[in-house]
Amino acid sequence: MEEGKLKYLSGTSYLNGENTHYIEALYERYLVDPDSVPGEWRGYFDTLPRYDGSPSRDVPLAPVRGQFEQLGRLGPRPIGAQGEDDAKRQVRVLQLINAYRFRGHQRADIDPLGLRKPEPVPDLDLSFHQLSKADMDTEFQTGSLFIGKDKAKLAEIVEALELTYCRSIGCEFMHIVNTEEKRWLQQRFESVRGKPDYSAEVRQHILERLSAAEGLESYLASKYPGTKRFGLEGGESFIPMLDEMIQRAGGYGVEEVAIGMAHRGRLNLLVNVLGKSPAELIDEFDGKQVLARGSGDVKYHKGFSSNVMTPGGEIHLALAFNPSHLEIASPVVEGSVRARQDRRGDASGDQVLPILVHGDAAFAGQGVVMETFQMSQTRAYRTGGTVHIVINNQVGFTTSRPDDARSSEYCTDIAKMVQAPIFHVNGDDPEAALYVSQVALDYRQRFHKDVVVDLVCYRRHGHNEADEPFGTQPLMYAEIKQHKTTRELYAEHLIATGVISEADAQRLTDDYRGHLDSGSHVVNALVQQPNPSLFVDWKPYLGHEWSGDYDTSFDAKRLAELATKMCTVPEQIVMQRQVAKVYEDRRQMITGQAPINWGFAETLAYATLIDQGHPIRITGQDCGRGTFSHRHAVIHSQTDASTWVPLQHLEQGQPTFTIHDSFLAEEGIMAFEYGYATTTPNALVAWEAQFGDFANGAQVVIDQFVSSGESKWGRLCGLVLLMPHGYEGQGPEHSSARLERFLQLCAEENMQVVAPTTPAQMFHLLRRQVVRPLRKPLVVMQPKSLLRHKDATSTMSELAEGRFQLVIPDQGERSPSAVKHVILCAGKVYYDLAAYRQEQKRDDVAIIRVEQLYPFPEQSLAAALASFEQLESVCWCQEEPRNQGAWYAIKSTLRQVLEGHRSGLGARLVYAGRDAAAAPAAGYMAVHVEQQKALVAAAFEG
Ligand code: AMP
Repeated sequence: MEEGKLKYLSGTSYLNGENTHYIEALYERYLVDPDSVPGEWRGYFDTLPRYDGSPSRDVPLAPVRGQFEQLGRLGPRPIGAQGEDDAKRQVRVLQLINAYRFRGHQRADIDPLGLRKPEPVPDLDLSFHQLSKADMDTEFQTGSLFIGKDKAKLAEIVEALELTYCRSIGCEFMHIVNTEEKRWLQQRFESVRGKPDYSAEVRQHILERLSAAEGLESYLASKYPGTKRFGLEGGESFIPMLDEMIQRAGGYGVEEVAIGMAHRGRLNLLVNVLGKSPAELIDEFDGKQVLARGSGDVKYHKGFSSNVMTPGGEIHLALAFNPSHLEIASPVVEGSVRARQDRRGDASGDQVLPILVHGDAAFAGQGVVMETFQMSQTRAYRTGGTVHIVINNQVGFTTSRPDDARSSEYCTDIAKMVQAPIFHVNGDDPEAALYVSQVALDYRQRFHKDVVVDLVCYRRHGHNEADEPFGTQPLMYAEIKQHKTTRELYAEHLIATGVISEADAQRLTDDYRGHLDSGSHVVNALVQQPNPSLFVDWKPYLGHEWSGDYDTSFDAKRLAELATKMCTVPEQIVMQRQVAKVYEDRRQMITGQAPINWGFAETLAYATLIDQGHPIRITGQDCGRGTFSHRHAVIHSQTDASTWVPLQHLEQGQPTFTIHDSFLAEEGIMAFEYGYATTTPNALVAWEAQFGDFANGAQVVIDQFVSSGESKWGRLCGLVLLMPHGYEGQGPEHSSARLERFLQLCAEENMQVVAPTTPAQMFHLLRRQVVRPLRKPLVVMQPKSLLRHKDATSTMSELAEGRFQLVIPDQGERSPSAVKHVILCAGKVYYDLAAYRQEQKRDDVAIIRVEQLYPFPEQSLAAALASFEQLESVCWCQEEPRNQGAWYAIKSTLRQVLEGHRSGLGARLVYAGRDAAAAPAAGYMAVHVEQQKALVAAAFEG
């Protein structure tokens, strides 16, 4: 502790602006652990007042920061009795300033309907701080208040605070720990007393945008009354806000903006910001659009892409397709943004901006919002900050009472978990809305963190246009019914303040209507000939028919070279004993001294893909090591915890190999990877479940994106889901990846569901997924015990020369004519069956593995059965209970294959597996073992 600072404690201050930060940091340390600061400082800090407002708002530095700064500014002076009194009042004024920063939003006028009944906020009263009207004319130091002068009368200070914090914008940022961010935000709001005095030109532009927003809705309402469109009415300020963000982003050099939003206001955004042609929208309303294939989707779920011109140049806009499940698009957009950033090498996120638009009820209600925030600063998922806009119409379908809709004060409270600043803004003050959009974007570009704008507005109609809102929200809708629109109110304001004439206002409305009538684009900035380098070219992947057979061989010499590189670990990386053994074993596998196991084949597949120019990205809860310790793609040095990822060191300038253990979530993370994969056709993108059943938590992603995205939206996706699956006595939860659910979702060749049984099969499967230009999701039922099974091995030449076999024919030497019974199976049970056959010497039984369950390989299976001329019975054997696994999904296809067999209709199809069950597997090992033995034995009985 420097001498000078200690002197301060005896009444003489040596503090100044620079070392205030130092003392704040010291104070923060003291608050966590008083003993961690020197005794003199501790003594001083012990005397400081503690904040006594509501405990939930208690951020300890705030009440004393004023003191540090104030005393620093005052400089050295003796403190006498009068001085002490002045100093106390001065401190109280500084506390009042901070109280406004903390709680001003609770008194702000943010609800256009005036229905919000805020609690009293005593901290904002003078008396709370032992100040009174009598002090109003006294001058005080303004401390850190950005008011343009060091001293001001209390009346002036209070007025500035009221204007800044209690008008149309309610700011929440005092929960942010970082002092620089907080100061920056204070400066942005305080220096303009809440919002700037915009020029007449800006105001006219705002009115023009509001006229467009309102104009589109009234046009559609008059042309298609009662048709569902989830109109924006009540939230029209959203359009100038979003427009501003995009234009401003362009000014920052942003080149792509990816937007996610649910249905409300979507058509408005499409036409008025993204530049979708009104004529095309009208065709959709008229039901004229017919698809060549797939189901298509309703108009308010559709995505769109366009390029617009901004002050910084051309910018690409991508609105994500959205299912009706609110909020699930958020992580999908984040994944897409990260992919775009990775493509550009934009590690900071400066070039690609995510904007997520939410509804208030879903933002407060849906867990995936939390997951998305949790991602925002993690290595694997960060995107340099997201701008969130909540279109807060103060009702969720029909739920609006505060005690039904949520337990948090605001619908945005969840954002505080990542210390995002939150700006609540009155939707009927479009200038304030514009300003918070500007601040939000500036904050994101500067600090690369999430920020939230809560546009408090209302919903002029019901949940949709066919819905009658008076039935459930009578008082709110009585207010809404007589409430003028945002455009009307703003036009009146501009006319009253002489910015425009009534005729000008009318002209804006008429001009817009004229554009709609002519069907022409209404976005002036739209670029008619978009620069294609701004987005990915999907053409090489379009229009391919399904084909399961593809040459995935790889040059043997190069394979050996890559294998050697993968096993070369620098000396300074001190490997843990078992990991060292894994790598030692792999070195033996290269030379043929040991057979190739699963982990090596899989990682070699990645090496070959990288070698051929494909980036790879794998995330999952335990994917670096592999839950079953088979992968060890990331080596952790035992001496300094540094890591070495062999697949990142194959060649200089190689494509990226990214592997990250994720945090413990499935829904958001799988959605993120889906978004990534649908934006990066050239890469292998995989998500690995820790256990297969973990995907249950992401079912919405599987249902609404993975299985149906291509059919609904024409969006191709090569995402790989690696799902450990197999019955090994680990109980009901960790046995099944719910194969039956995936198969139930399969149709129209929408995805591939496979259960590979050899390392070589895994190698070729992964290669097929990328080297073949077709992009379809791939669901892999991954083994667990097979990862180390002595018979589940391959050779280097099987890797180099083979290809993925849809069906593996019977292995071994037996006379086909002696075979009367064939067992068909998928996955790990094959090894149990093969062992039993050997044990029981049942050479009369053939075992065929169906390695791909969907699209079902009828022809390959027929070919594998063809030589068994005397076939009498065929058994489908599975480990899963009868109502689960593949049986129900494939049995009619199996019958068809048998009907085509040369033995005619005689071959019976029978089932061997567990009985139908409510849970996937038994919880007791003994029961599991007994069931497994029984089903294997049963499979041999024709
Ligand atoms: P985006 O950057 O998402 O706006 O995409 C630009 C263009 O690429 C779109 O208009 C589509 O034509 C095409 N595209 C993007 N993603 C996919 C996908 N997953 N499958 C097929 N085409 C795509």
